[in-house]
Amino acid sequence: MGKALIIGAGGVASVAVHKCVQNSEVFEEICIASRTKSKCDELKAKLDGGKTKITTAQVDADNVDELIALINEVKPDIVMNLALPYQDLTIMDACLATKTHYMDTANYEPEDTAKFEYKWQWEYRERFEKAGITALLGSGFDPGVTGVFSAYALKHYFDEIEYIDILDCNGGDHGYPFATNFNPEINIREVSANGRYWENGEWIETEPMEIKRVYNFAEVGEKDMYLLYHEELESLAENIPGLKRIRFFMTFGQSYLTHLKALENVGMTSIEPIEFEGKQIIPLQFLKAVLPDPASLGPRTVGKTNIGCIFRGKKDGKDKTYYVYNVCDHQECFKEVGSQAISYTTGVPAMIGAAMILTGKWNKAGVYNIEQFDPDPFMEELNKWGLPWVEDFNPVLVDDEPAKKKE
Ligand code: NDP
Repeated sequence: MGKALIIGAGGVASVAVHKCVQNSEVFEEICIASRTKSKCDELKAKLDGGKTKITTAQVDADNVDELIALINEVKPDIVMNLALPYQDLTIMDACLATKTHYMDTANYEPEDTAKFEYKWQWEYRERFEKAGITALLGSGFDPGVTGVFSAYALKHYFDEIEYIDILDCNGGDHGYPFATNFNPEINIREVSANGRYWENGEWIETEPMEIKRVYNFAEVGEKDMYLLYHEELESLAENIPGLKRIRFFMTFGQSYLTHLKALENVGMTSIEPIEFEGKQIIPLQFLKAVLPDPASLGPRTVGKTNIGCIFRGKKDGKDKTYYVYNVCDHQECFKEVGSQAISYTTGVPAMIGAAMILTGKWNKAGVYNIEQFDPDPFMEELNKWGLPWVEDFNPVLVDDEPAKKKE
């Protein structure tokens, strides 16, 4: 049916490539292109020989001309951006120049400012519309499936959604005192930033990890979770009409937080360049180099993730609550594709999002967040490709007590 150019060959891309190959009816051909070509070749060597034709290429995705040349050579129907958020705009520029559909899993963030916002990518709306191509933003799990869950809840169960709490629980244990489950630089930038949530049309800012709640997750158990800013809050606050509040919580263990605090206190999480032995280095990038590679965590991680959304609102004038979530087992993922659940829960929706566009199920020109499309075909595919979802019509709610400060 179609051809995809996949940019990036890290944890998420590896899962997406496995899944594209499993879905060879849709992905007849893929080209894996990244900065380090040997990683693309390794993936090809592992998965070659099936129905999907696989090629590889080297590309610097910070360079628009290189990207345009590659797209012109490969002639893909869609570019799947599974590199880093810093490359979103250059890849979007190259897609515009070649009139090729685009998708990603994380919104643009300038490398020198830890501030992720959709404004840069939303500025491309008119240009994509005029070019007759689609940009699908945020087709991972969160953002991604959380937006699909929201669109699904609104379509099937609510006249109006008033409150959304997104709960991201990782009950996995990799046995290291400190490691991050995906790209350490992106992960640490996200969790060391101030928290933020949206209420009654306003953003309310908190100190990092200031608001803590405890929640008992199905198949995982009781966990501490902390309010973070997460990028889908921005698009969902805009796209879910009548919304009064949206928050995002992520679980962290005490060991992770203690290490992070110490690293912060000594300046290791800073993105300000410093002089070291006659060279400019960025402490956070140096820290990334000494931490375990997230891809190496797969064999040693046990336990499950549970990520989902609790909705409160009105149906036929009555109060209604609804919780929809997915539980994913780290070891099961590793057995299937050689990666832990964090990469798995992102790589599967990346493949599904691209498939929605390639099959024409999602077909509108412009730049769209995932909740702006019909959720039904995506929900079906989640069940089919390894991320089944569970519904609970009487969930325990996250308590609404005034913000509880971290002890
Ligand atoms: P990794 O660091 O494992 O992989 C990133 C890949 O991109 C590497 O192969 C890297 O190449 C490549 N890359 C980086 N810069 C360039 C460049 N300039 N040109 C070409 N290739 C480049 O990251 P992950 O796989 O963990 O994450 C991928 C994306 O997924 C990120 O944007 C992340 O934010 C997002 N994500 C989204 C989630 C969601 O639920 N929505 C959850 C988790 C992640 P090299 O090997 O040479 O370093």
